[in-house]
Amino acid sequence: NTNVPELIWHNGKVRPWAEATVHVTTETAMRAVNVFEGLRAYRQPDGRLAIVRLTAHLERLETSAALMHIPHPGLAAELHDGITQLLAALDPQGDVYVRPSVYVDTGRYTAERTEMTTGTIVTCFPAPVRPMEPMRCIVSSRRRIADDALPTAAKTGAAYSGFRLARLEALEKGADEAILLNQHGNVAETGGAAVFAVRHGRITTPPLTDGILASITRATVLALAERLGIPAAEQPLTPGDLHGADEVFVTGTLDEVRIVGQVNGHSPRHGDHPIGSALREEYLAMCAGTRPALDASFLAVIA
Ligand code: PMP
Repeated sequence: NTNVPELIWHNGKVRPWAEATVHVTTETAMRAVNVFEGLRAYRQPDGRLAIVRLTAHLERLETSAALMHIPHPGLAAELHDGITQLLAALDPQGDVYVRPSVYVDTGRYTAERTEMTTGTIVTCFPAPVRPMEPMRCIVSSRRRIADDALPTAAKTGAAYSGFRLARLEALEKGADEAILLNQHGNVAETGGAAVFAVRHGRITTPPLTDGILASITRATVLALAERLGIPAAEQPLTPGDLHGADEVFVTGTLDEVRIVGQVNGHSPRHGDHPIGSALREEYLAMCAGTRPALDASFLAVIA
């Protein structure tokens, strides 16, 4: 692949991409015993680069590591340094997507936990081109793995084999993305975003107790809705709620706020997506630093 970045941060140092290797038999390679985060950094009007909700992402990474029993003391500080060092070395021109990860390198399972070693990486890619057209979704036949099987609050590679199959099903059916239900048949999330429905001017998104990742963008959008005076609720949603919604949109670091134009072939009633579009515009402007941030920790200026 010629499309890989030149540099990666691995175990404390910025290195050439090809030098960051693990053995094929490691727990991370064989069983996806790892945790990771996805962050975005946006160029600000003054030319500096700022990361959205850096502290919240590093805290979620710590939570993920604890839930998955991947001990790595001081990981937040270490990966904060990793992110800063990699961005300084790459000095990217535009917006970027940044992915820190902690993985199990040598040793395995609980009995040998004391002998387990972990590794850390940070990768950085140019932000993908922002799609402008509404996304077509299906409700997947595959359910989101439940908290009693694998902690839903952990962002671990292990969960993404299920999301991958759901995404492949969506692509197979001519859609762009899959919405997964939870074990009770209520809407959970996509493999990369929280789901929102709009009805009669009010936005609704499933509660965290419905078995979803605690999406940081979801929390931001709920706060933005409050700022804009849009009524919002965290309440279970059924597939029927999505079929009959005035609007549907998703929120995530990569998707930002993305308008959904179809769910199982049902188009939202309000084809111009006024509320989703307003939240999208506000979110993007806040990330770009052209609208006041929600609070002082929203953007962390890096370089
Ligand atoms: N759900 C899943 C399964 C995800 O992987 C992501 C992306 N991290 C999200 C939701 C959205 O979370 P966030 O807004 O924190 O990026």
